[in-house]
Amino acid sequence: MNKKTDIKGLTSAETISFIQSLNEKPFRAKQIRQWVFDRGISDFSEMTNLSKTFRERLADTANVTELEEADRKVSSDGSIKFLFRLHDGKTIESVWMPEENRATLCVSTQVGCKLACGFCMTGEGGFERQLSTAEIVDQLIQARKLVPGGRVTNIVFMGMGEPLDNYDNVLQALKVLTEPDCGLMGARKITLSTAGVVPGILLLAKDFSKIKLAVSLNAADDATRNKLMPINKKHPIAELFWALKKWPLPKGRLLTLEYVLIAGINDSDDDAKKLSKLCSDMPVKINLIPYNSASGAQYKSPSKKRVDTFMKIASGRGLIVLPRASRGQDIMAACGQLRGKRS
Ligand code: SAH
Repeated sequence: MNKKTDIKGLTSAETISFIQSLNEKPFRAKQIRQWVFDRGISDFSEMTNLSKTFRERLADTANVTELEEADRKVSSDGSIKFLFRLHDGKTIESVWMPEENRATLCVSTQVGCKLACGFCMTGEGGFERQLSTAEIVDQLIQARKLVPGGRVTNIVFMGMGEPLDNYDNVLQALKVLTEPDCGLMGARKITLSTAGVVPGILLLAKDFSKIKLAVSLNAADDATRNKLMPINKKHPIAELFWALKKWPLPKGRLLTLEYVLIAGINDSDDDAKKLSKLCSDMPVKINLIPYNSASGAQYKSPSKKRVDTFMKIASGRGLIVLPRASRGQDIMAACGQLRGKRS
């Protein structure tokens, strides 16, 4: 049997071509896309403005991926962590974080992760498989159905997995999410975070630089970064910064560098000085994230005083540093705590 076409993974133009291949008029594509993206309908038989024979034809040749909510945990800070089950039984997590003037959805791009960063729980379980474009996009569509008021104003690609290690599906998901005809999300409302996959950064700079880019730096020298993030041995800091300089930043904008502060590893006064020196000629701001611990973890969170001192030293030397409070710590939904298993 031929593989069915997943409508949720298609751009507007691709949907039109597909519909034409079934000998139907192009405007039918728009009707289908409204059902799928605006109304969250996945069953062709419910698309009542299409003829019965066309609906049957669609059911034979196409499908619409739908993630199943397997579990949810609600944090005392209002965040919700969803566990979604995929068609093959594997599970991923997405986290919804409401604030006063926005509500951000953190989406996953892989089941597991290949990068094995020592401080991140997603990496601990290894890699299982890539998410399809539709599985990435549907995290938003399902979240809109499940959260109060359907309120999601921003998306961050910061959940399970390394987005640039699933380049084709992630790029296609960015295109689908930002298609004007279904209006799911504006490109400037999307941030993609990478651990530093240099070839992916260079490709994305050419293919889709309308989104915001964030990079998990986490150390200001190669020796420390090698220990924390094995990918640094392949793409060391100098190469990473060379690639970042090629990112076409709009005027007045800054790239975000995430820096997870880990007690005794990368949080000394000297580390703060090294970080500001390293970034002195870069258009960046630093998101400082105190390490979130997990049971059995080998690392420790820094004290509040250490975080403050680190910030003072780095910002005293001209760096823009923003402390970032991790949301959903009580439900294991904070940065680095996602693993896609029921816990
Ligand atoms: N692979 C991508 C996307 C995941 S983003 C990337 O690395 O950018 C996940 C973010 O959480 C990264 O910035 C990472 O540095 C951070 N993180 C991972 N483990 C953490 C932990 N235990 N405590 C705090 N932040 C953590």
